[in-house]
Amino acid sequence: MIRAGVNTKGEQLVELGVEYRHIEGAPKQVPIERFQMSQVKYNTMALRDGPFIKGLRIDHIEEAIGLRASFEDGSRQFGIRSHTRGLVYQKSRSTLMPPTGFGRTLVLFLALSLAPAQQTFSPTPDMYQAIQGVSSASLRGNLSFIASELLEGRDTPSRGLDIAAVYIAAQFSAARLDPAGDDGYFQTAKMLRTVPAPDGFELRIQDGSHALTVSKDQASVQSQGPLELSGAPVYKVRDLADLRDGEGKGKVVLLPASRENSREIAKVTAALQPVAFLEVADKEDGSSQRRLLDPDERHDTFAGVPRLIVHDAEARKLLRAAKAGETGLTISVKLTTPTLIPVTVRNVIGLLRGSDLKLRDQYILLTAHYDHLGMDGPGRVFHGANDDGSGTVSVMEVARALARLPQHPRRSIVFMTFFGEEEGLIGSAYYAHHPLLPLAKTIADLNLEQVGRTDSTEGPQISNGSLTGFDYSDLTSYVQRAGERTGIKIYKNLIGSDAYFTQSDNFSLAEEGIPAQTLCVAFDYPDYHAVGDEWQKIDYENLARVNRAIALAMFLMADSDQPVRWNESNPRTESFVKAWKQRGAQ
Ligand SMILES: [Zn+2]
Repeated sequence: MIRAGVNTKGEQLVELGVEYRHIEGAPKQVPIERFQMSQVKYNTMALRDGPFIKGLRIDHIEEAIGLRASFEDGSRQFGIRSHTRGLVYQKSRSTLMPPTGFGRTLVLFLALSLAPAQQTFSPTPDMYQAIQGVSSASLRGNLSFIASELLEGRDTPSRGLDIAAVYIAAQFSAARLDPAGDDGYFQTAKMLRTVPAPDGFELRIQDGSHALTVSKDQASVQSQGPLELSGAPVYKVRDLADLRDGEGKGKVVLLPASRENSREIAKVTAALQPVAFLEVADKEDGSSQRRLLDPDERHDTFAGVPRLIVHDAEARKLLRAAKAGETGLTISVKLTTPTLIPVTVRNVIGLLRGSDLKLRDQYILLTAHYDHLGMDGPGRVFHGANDDGSGTVSVMEVARALARLPQHPRRSIVFMTFFGEEEGLIGSAYYAHHPLLPLAKTIADLNLEQVGRTDSTEGPQISNGSLTGFDYSDLTSYVQRAGERTGIKIYKNLIGSDAYFTQSDNFSLAEEGIPAQTLCVAFDYPDYHAVGDEWQKIDYENLARVNRAIALAMFLMADSDQPVRWNESNPRTESFVKAWKQRGAQ
């Protein structure tokens, strides 16, 4: 077992002992060693004259001052995990063997020298104390409210969303963050909700002699004005290469399904002035109808080009099967002017002011979206506990933990939750286009998505996390280093890394040149975008561990001598690097 604490003289003490169970015998215990841990550095802690087996390695510090250790003696090895509350885990790796043949003058070092050479990393005892404040009970309590039936799925806009915003702001206030919105903790966004006219809707897709009519409740429309098309050709774009030679001009452009760079492609295509965009909805249920507009369209991805999003099963099948480029399909549309209803929605923003006079006006963002899909026709609630209630409560929890530091990190840390991610990243896009803190001084964004469920369809994800855009910036190395010290393995998900980079709020900030990536534990899980995404299904112990890694990563980025940088050698970062340089970053 390993215990750590502070004695009456204020010295940091660590007691280290090993309990093991011999295969045939009763549990045995190696005498506890007691030694003092340096107040300044944890990475050179030495244990002298202990009766410990040669090759005992302490893998990393876990849960504040707790340790994780493993024995290795030829084929005999076992691991122990422990934390400061004295609880002992014992985990067999292979055959458990009693540690025999100890030397009496063994020196043991904490194996904490894994940091890349460019920067030494020595978190203070205060830092470990702070991340120990992350509590699975607090995460569970907050999420049981955020994902409760009462908030009705936090649709954008909705009363449930507004209640969630007030709750998040209250938690920021309790953590003593500075309000950083335009109205206390709120950034107020005045948006327009488009409501299609009750009559005058017609949408017909023609495939040779076969005509398919899409009914009004099977399509979402985003248009500020009327639209009338008769037999307009449909041009299908899979990737940017399909747009060579300015194809798409004057046509209806069929965008790839979401999760495939559709936004990036839409932005490029919009400049070619298509007459409309046609999109295939993720799901048939119509729950992701996109009807909210930022009246300040200057920056809008779709540049005011009307969007027709089709939910109808047969139409989706037809459009998915259509070949790239000229599809041979034509479309006829008749839309009367929709009614535009002003609505107010809010991002929630709190600031932990940096401690360094030179660096405190630079900002590191920790973000998540607090909206979800609302309710369906029969009134079933999409709870959105993992997507993205888990990210939302993590932002609150990490804020609470880091705010306890007697000395804040050097740069300021901004905690922000977005509305409207499910409507097409509109809350983060709103912030990116109406920033409240200078983007030129915004160093990085760590965005959180789906960090609570470990039952991924790719297999269990215990103590695991992945970043989208894994090789896009050195933000990854900060999170990896933090993970190494808190027991979270940060790995590259070969499918998710690049494919999902454009699919969450980090993308809105990346488009403005800010190194921004999304941390995700389960890219896909059984209740994704389903009613069953409930708070009871979250792995809170794992979420707490992930939160400690996040807190440490935020600390590292905020305290680092060097700002986070894009990986310029990766061609996929080209447009982001361009924006980064344009806004004056190094
Ligand atoms: Zn999400």
